[in-house]
Amino acid sequence: MKPEAHRAWRHRLLAILLGAGLCAPGLAAPPKAPDYLFDDAHFHLTNYVQKGTDIHRYLEIMGDKVGRSTLFGIPLQQTWAYGNSGDFAPTYYLQSDAPLYYYSFTDAYIAKVYQALPKAQQARLDPMITGFNPADMYGVDHIRRVLELFPGVFSGIGEFTIHKEFVSSKVAGETASLTNPALDRILDFAGEVGLVAIIHCDIDMPFAKAGTEPVYLKQMRDLLRRHPQTTIIWAHLGLGRIVRPVQGQATTEGAERSGAYQEIVAGMLEDPTLSHVDFDISWDEVAKYAVASPESIQRVVKIFNAHPDRFLFGTDNVAPAEQATQLRIYEMWNPVWAQLTPDASRKIRLGNYERLFDAARMKVRAWEKANVKPL
Ligand SMILES: [Zn+2]
Repeated sequence: MKPEAHRAWRHRLLAILLGAGLCAPGLAAPPKAPDYLFDDAHFHLTNYVQKGTDIHRYLEIMGDKVGRSTLFGIPLQQTWAYGNSGDFAPTYYLQSDAPLYYYSFTDAYIAKVYQALPKAQQARLDPMITGFNPADMYGVDHIRRVLELFPGVFSGIGEFTIHKEFVSSKVAGETASLTNPALDRILDFAGEVGLVAIIHCDIDMPFAKAGTEPVYLKQMRDLLRRHPQTTIIWAHLGLGRIVRPVQGQATTEGAERSGAYQEIVAGMLEDPTLSHVDFDISWDEVAKYAVASPESIQRVVKIFNAHPDRFLFGTDNVAPAEQATQLRIYEMWNPVWAQLTPDASRKIRLGNYERLFDAARMKVRAWEKANVKPL
């Protein structure tokens, strides 16, 4: 048999064997990845008293439904003050008047449980640094120290909080603010390293009157514009339990745009000075606002289809025990998912996460290679 005929035969045989998976394992086609429903851009493994889901259990909970997930704790510890609640051990900030304080060890915990996983499981997670005080000019040094101690682990910073209903006023020490240069140092460094930054900051104060400009909007926009090099995700679109998308809200920018909350968001999406800013739609409170009425669903569908690259789905769940808890948040959005273009749906559920966090991984590893000396 002529050599070329022999080669053709060999190739045909190999293709048949490969197809049947009968060849040496090394050659077998990689198993097809499940059709994941979503990536979770906003997930807390541990709660306000640093207790949470076992990391191996979390991978089981992700299973074949959640492809990738951010991994962070909560950088604030709820004090159990005996004088305040006696034998009752609070686990949430609404369960005690005792203060919250920054708990930096959360980053070592997240790094260690991540490092305990096999590579294939590590590849599905994006650990985030949260254990710094955004009102401390030394806060940025904590982030650098964590990267130096745990190279090869983290993809970003946050969720960290500036203004948050019921929480900010309970934090011991100076209250964080959007005008504090300590925060600019942190976002500058995040931009230099390539870390994605997830910021929790309510857009307004609770019970704001309709027709008034959201109190934190201008400061937040100014902060975002001061850091065009940093990939920033505004968590929960700035909304909260009490801080709701008020209709008929005025803005100082573009008087002609005075009006509804979603017009404020639309204005930010169309603003070239804010193109480095995306929004996560995590938390069941946000889902409630989105699907509250046929009109709200229409508004959300319109803005998601118009700006499919700028929103990331997330649960904002804390230390879940089972997969159903994750899927519940996803299913709350069903009236919206049903009306999105296939492109917008895929990007908001999966694509935007992978684009932002894959880029961050590359940049942060490169920064570590250039800046982290072996211990
Ligand atoms: Zn959160």
